[in-house]
Amino acid sequence: MVVVGSANADLVVTVARRPSAGETVLGDDVTTIPGGKGANQAVAAGRLGASVALLGAVGADQYGELLRESLRSANVDTGLLRTADRPTGNAFITLTPDGENTIVVSPGANASVLPADVAAASSEVAAAKVVVLSLEIPLETVRHAVEAASSAGVRVLLNLSPVASLDEETLGRLDPLVVNEHEAAWLLTARDSAQEDSAQDSAQEDSAQDSAQEDSAQDSAQEDSAREVSAQDSADAARYVEIARRLRALGPRSVVVTLGAKGAVTSDENGTTVIAAPEVRAVDSTGAGDAFAGALAVGLAADRPLADAAAFAARVAATAVTRVGAQPSYPTSNEVIS
Ligand code: ATP
Repeated sequence: MVVVGSANADLVVTVARRPSAGETVLGDDVTTIPGGKGANQAVAAGRLGASVALLGAVGADQYGELLRESLRSANVDTGLLRTADRPTGNAFITLTPDGENTIVVSPGANASVLPADVAAASSEVAAAKVVVLSLEIPLETVRHAVEAASSAGVRVLLNLSPVASLDEETLGRLDPLVVNEHEAAWLLTARDSAQEDSAQDSAQEDSAQDSAQEDSAQDSAQEDSAREVSAQDSADAARYVEIARRLRALGPRSVVVTLGAKGAVTSDENGTTVIAAPEVRAVDSTGAGDAFAGALAVGLAADRPLADAAAFAARVAATAVTRVGAQPSYPTSNEVIS
């Protein structure tokens, strides 16, 4: 598997309260933690024993070394991790006692991951079983990687985080699109307002096409939801099924929505499945989404059906939330809770 994505050093400081503009406050000692969505996903997959490479960039600095070391110790191939002439990406995180955080991300070397890097790795990309993407690198690189992988017949998993809008062609190549509840809501709202605009422009032909598409999506979703609601007799499950149905109508081949402690919902041509999260004592959910995406890719690379792979990913992510940190919390296969 090839993960195309970011690598950041997270600099975390706890403060009694957040400073206001122009103010200085003292905080605790800084903790430096290897992070970034791409590196997290690659480490999650590597720890589970998958063959995985990270395509990305770090700087020629101590943070770059920290990331390389963390990746190597999880058996992630760093042959496609370029050393850029920009500093390693950083996330500056302040934590306050109320459990809230603020985060400033400086992309640094991640911003220098360009389509040319993907083109230079075209044989590795084409040979991968699954290519995994997220959006902490330039969008044009993501689009290029999606196109390159899917044209070579490689399955593309894209985690739409941080959320951004994607063109229809790119969306149509995703198998699956992976979003959390907030990202799902953002996508569906963006779609609703686009539809309003097009109605205002009175593009009747387009609307007719849209509603035809929606009708056919609704038909297949009704089948899906019929299957699902009988299994999950709850209003919540019905709502999740509806969200997944509406997301699939945007064009991706399949969809996974992660629902935090409530689990996840998957939707593909085999139907829609709500997956309950294993009940655990959560101590830190940082990087749970990346653990889920990395593990999902491992399941898909092993040819598991989407719902099975997501159930496995939910067990991996539930294990990760019982431990502190992102990468340090990711389990090996033997450690995954059953
Ligand atoms: P983050 O930004 O914290 O990495 P996210 O918002 O991308 O996470 P979530 O939906 O919060 O993603 O979590 C991803 C997955 O992790 C969920 O689908 C679920 O399987 C698992 N998970 C998260 N929190 C819990 C929890 N408290 N108990 C069990 N599983 C959890």
